[in-house]
Amino acid sequence: MNKLGIFMNFWEKNWDADHAKYIRKAARIGFDVLEFQAQPLLEMTDEKIRSLKALADDVGIELTYSLGLDRAYDVSSLDENIRKGGVKYLQDIIRKIHIGGGTLLSGVSYAGWGTPDNFAGDKRPYLEQSIKSMREIIKVAEECGVTYCVEAVNRFETCLINTAREALDYASEIDSPNIGVLLDTYHMNIEETSIGDAIRLAGDRLTSFHTGENNRTAPGRGHLDWDEIFGALADIGYSGRIVSEPFVMAGGEVGRDIHVYRDLIADPTEEKIDAEAKYLLNFEKEMIQKYSK
Ligand code: MN
Repeated sequence: MNKLGIFMNFWEKNWDADHAKYIRKAARIGFDVLEFQAQPLLEMTDEKIRSLKALADDVGIELTYSLGLDRAYDVSSLDENIRKGGVKYLQDIIRKIHIGGGTLLSGVSYAGWGTPDNFAGDKRPYLEQSIKSMREIIKVAEECGVTYCVEAVNRFETCLINTAREALDYASEIDSPNIGVLLDTYHMNIEETSIGDAIRLAGDRLTSFHTGENNRTAPGRGHLDWDEIFGALADIGYSGRIVSEPFVMAGGEVGRDIHVYRDLIADPTEEKIDAEAKYLLNFEKEMIQKYSK
């Protein structure tokens, strides 16, 4: 059975929050993994990070990390000062993840989140900068035992890696056991001609997987074809983590950055979000069961 996870900001409108509360909550609901933005680790003491890790171990939760890279640290920047600053920033984040015993980072981690200012349509120069940066970043990931996943995201969030093919090509350029590929159903729905074929193309190079509906509600609530998705995961024998990443509340940093301009659950109280988390966990377990061979 795949490890099943949830992203903390299903519940929280700001990126930083009471991590301990959500470690306990994720365990209580029945998840195996809790994912959250890695940047707040930089503000935490090593002692604090270790105490969260101890709590997570205690309740049987694995912590994984994601990030949307602040453009001040854009490792694909044509400005060498910004690029070098970004390399150091991401290396520092990896070291913090390692202090907490973490082994996985994903997200828009290979370029500043968004399309570069004054982008003229040729992404190759930015891609080359990003690859140059990643070859430096990945050395620290190797030392720390962290797998650094590049996540293919939709065209409104990056110009560099929109599809599984582009993610795989990028990973090949880095050529390290610590570079990984993450696919996310919400982004695939926008960019891939066939979601099933994209998953099969990634095959055994798929390191981690995010789920979310076409409108970023919980899996099963929208119009994505979950039989196609879980069928394809079964086709490739995918046994890795499946982390659900719904965003259903307008407002706050999360609503702003994810472009959620209306509540996607009516009157989203904590109790209702808890119930929705239980629902999606059961939905995914049933889909895995349906396609288990
Ligand atoms: Mn994602």
